[in-house]
Amino acid sequence: MPISVSDDGRLDVTGLTAGYGQVTVVRDVNLRVDRGEFVCLLGANGVGKTTLLRAIVGDADVSNGSVTFDGRQLTGISSHRVTRAGMAIVPEGRGLVSDISVRDNLLLGSIPWNRKYSSAELSSSMDEIFDRFPILGQRRYQLAGHLSGGEQQMLAIGRALMSRPRLLVLDEPSLGLAPLLVRQVFDDLAAANRDGLTILVAEQNAAAALRVAERSLVMAGGRIVREGTADSLRDSHELRAMFLGTSKNGSEPDSAIAGSCSDAVNQSTPTQHHEGNHK
Ligand code: ATP
Repeated sequence: MPISVSDDGRLDVTGLTAGYGQVTVVRDVNLRVDRGEFVCLLGANGVGKTTLLRAIVGDADVSNGSVTFDGRQLTGISSHRVTRAGMAIVPEGRGLVSDISVRDNLLLGSIPWNRKYSSAELSSSMDEIFDRFPILGQRRYQLAGHLSGGEQQMLAIGRALMSRPRLLVLDEPSLGLAPLLVRQVFDDLAAANRDGLTILVAEQNAAAALRVAERSLVMAGGRIVREGTADSLRDSHELRAMFLGTSKNGSEPDSAIAGSCSDAVNQSTPTQHHEGNHK
């Protein structure tokens, strides 16, 4: 397998083919996320976004290609060791433990580092999470299952941040949230990105993602079919096809859906939020 070398906090995915056992889902994917970037992976239901993210974090079967992060070869290593390498994932559906407290869910996120950090350091990490998401601080002793959907998404992000990642990978953070909460979650992610966190997010909600991501990749049929800024993706056939859920040899999509796609892309603003990151 090829081993690419980088030592600058960059994620490099090269020729990645992955799936589950004999089932191949992701084919020959090349993807790069530079340190400090906010990159979005767009695609309709079932195109392989989750599988690609799972392959990156060591949770799917890789049959070809490589994943390197910060110059370290991660292909084929366990998800636990991927976390130690500086990556954290917020899975689709959040993966919270609903019958334990907010605080205890956050502590679960620190497990990869428990032996390395003192309790004072863990407590200071938790305070940072409460500064970023004050509502979690107010509700720290409540059961996670009693939080609203938006608060649960914040908790899932907070739990991932407890492992002090340099790259945060999120799968469909808008899932099940009302539009205002989706906006809030993406604003929170943009703020974390301004603070230097590198972000890779898979989303079906193109409008929400394109508003804040500085670069996006469109996925279809297990492959990356288009890449660009929100501006450059405007009116792209691939993005319109994604809104339709199918790609029919270049035929025009339904006009109402095409309109909402253009609206979504037009509402997005190319990011201005990147100053201060360490490229
Ligand atoms: P969604 O937005 O619905 O999560 P996605 O783009 O993330 O879609 P995946 O979840 O990666 O897509 O699924 C891609 C394909 O892989 C689907 O056909 C799905 O049925 C299949 N798949 C997912 N998980 C498994 C699994 N554990 N074993 C076998 N096939 C799977």
